[in-house]
Amino acid sequence: MTKLFLKRKITTRIANGHPWIFANEVNEVDGDIEPGATVEVYFHDKKFVGRGYANPQSQIVARLLTRDPKEEINEAFFYNRLLDCWNYKKKLGYEENCRLVFGEADFLPALIVDKFNDYFVIQTLSLGMDLWKPAIVSALNRIFSPKGIFERNDVPVRELEGMPQQKGFLSPEFDTNIVINENGLKFHVDILNGQKTGYFLDQQDNRRAIRNIVRDADVLEAFCYTGTFSLHAAHYGAKSVLGLDISENAVAQARKNAELNNLQDVCKFDAVNAFDVLKLWAKEGRQYDVVMLDPPAFTKSRENIQKAITGYKEINLRGMKLVKPGGFLVTASCTNLVQPDLFLQTIEMAAKDARKKLRQVTFQAQASDHPIIWGMENTNYLKFLIVEVR
Ligand code: SAH
Repeated sequence: MTKLFLKRKITTRIANGHPWIFANEVNEVDGDIEPGATVEVYFHDKKFVGRGYANPQSQIVARLLTRDPKEEINEAFFYNRLLDCWNYKKKLGYEENCRLVFGEADFLPALIVDKFNDYFVIQTLSLGMDLWKPAIVSALNRIFSPKGIFERNDVPVRELEGMPQQKGFLSPEFDTNIVINENGLKFHVDILNGQKTGYFLDQQDNRRAIRNIVRDADVLEAFCYTGTFSLHAAHYGAKSVLGLDISENAVAQARKNAELNNLQDVCKFDAVNAFDVLKLWAKEGRQYDVVMLDPPAFTKSRENIQKAITGYKEINLRGMKLVKPGGFLVTASCTNLVQPDLFLQTIEMAAKDARKKLRQVTFQAQASDHPIIWGMENTNYLKFLIVEVR
């Protein structure tokens, strides 16, 4: 097996457990680095670091799968790891839906598996992981006897690994429009054409967090996707809810979800550009008891971080202006480069400019089926804040 020897001076990152080996951290290679093949990684002094898969075409030349010298990387490895993931998620209370595998944070770099009851949606985002797809599918079949498995590998990051974007069945074909349950509500999930894997499981606890503040409220939600927060608001007793999204498909699905839960009289949806509308309505002096914002990630690269901050400040400032004095702003950010402190500072700047005083109700992260690994900053990506606005 090909061996990679790290430079003498490596970052403490690798020693502390981070699974990525960057090409410029490698001092010497013994053997050929075959794309996707398993390699062994050693420190400069020949001490074993771990085993993982390689890709000479990627800046991340290897990603570690194990640090146990006795553990081989084979089909049984993937079965055992997936079983570990499931046992862990069950221990946290997950039964029906969960992110079964959240990549590095579940010790399976570049693998995403979402479990929607009996259906599974997977993403293999690196070449090494992609080659193990048959083993992953076989493990899912053994553990869950699923009704269907689908790959949503239509993601640009695969191209950095020299792989095409693709989507399709990894099981016999099935109807990709499914219905899942969450917090006592039902939601249509479009596995084939929905955003990402079809549904944002990471907000499931946060949707519950709005329970008390929406009672009898007039609620506005921008960036509502399929209406998940809006429907929770209606379910928890809001008087009226208006959800906005730029995607016609998302809005159509949101309306279907309202009907599915018999909340179509309370919950209305419109396909509009939220940036334009929030600005206009703030100017017009419209007022809501609760305003909720969950925009898409504003940047994936460090160069654009300032632009992302400006974007967050802008929409949150508009959002705050639309809140009645004593009402609530519910605001989220999934940009992992905007870490929690920076997000809060941005909200603070927006409040200053809007001349509003904020009283924090709660500040949380993603649901625990998307684990946060300490020392792996980008696993701590979702910020979710509720503040009273005065
Ligand atoms: N809160 C949702 C997820 C929102 S994802 C949930 O928990 O399910 C972000 C959404 O913002 C996407 O649906 C995307 O279509 C929408 N979006 C992106 N740009 C927008 C814009 N300018 N105006 C309105 N919606 C936008």
